[in-house]
Amino acid sequence: MAFIKENYKQIVSRVSVANAGLVAVSKIRSVPEILEAYNEGQRDFGENYVQELMEKFNALPKDIRWHFIGHLQTNKIKTILPLTFLIHGVDSEKLLGAINKEAKKINKKISCLLQVHIAQEATKFGFNEEEILHISLEKYPFINICGLMGMASLVDDRDQIRNEFKKLSAMFDKMKPVFSKAISPVLSMGMSDDYDIALEEGSNLVRIGSLLFGQRGVK
Ligand SMILES: *Cc1c(COP(=O)(O)O)cnc(C)c1O
Repeated sequence: MAFIKENYKQIVSRVSVANAGLVAVSKIRSVPEILEAYNEGQRDFGENYVQELMEKFNALPKDIRWHFIGHLQTNKIKTILPLTFLIHGVDSEKLLGAINKEAKKINKKISCLLQVHIAQEATKFGFNEEEILHISLEKYPFINICGLMGMASLVDDRDQIRNEFKKLSAMFDKMKPVFSKAISPVLSMGMSDDYDIALEEGSNLVRIGSLLFGQRGVK
């Protein structure tokens, strides 16, 4: 398992043609593997697990922007707030409240994306469209809501994936005026298997792991 430079170059060029950004998803990957990507110029990395994020944060250059893309538990919030550039998977008002509370304690505004449930699978986390339109953002003064994040269903049907991304993209356009101006509005959608469709449907930040580092769990 190692960093695949040819894939990286190809993805970076496709992403930049689409005016989008790339989060290199580095969960389970070693520090040397991440450094290979860093040395090619990659600065945005995504992690799913708090312990791993802490270890990598300490071991790697400080100009890396760490994205937390996992399912965040409230008791871990305190640990990751000082380390993260953007939290992608905020999926409940309870979590928004808890992040706001910890952010207030350290007097730091935290940038977050709201995760939207667009897939057919019941197991994926996220708000539905109705819920998201009714969140009172002013209740969370220490959170910058910077955009939306979503994951399509794990299916081979490319039309279904496209329709799910279309739905998220439409919500994003509708909500754009309410997002924080701290960074430009983020629509985080697209992974190794579907990032091409996501870019066509308006994604401006893709999260890619296995295309860059090989299949997880395969040595
Ligand atoms: C693991 C993960 C990715 C990357 O998946 P790949 O298929 O390896 O590109 C993207 N987003 C989230 C939320 C993930 O957990």
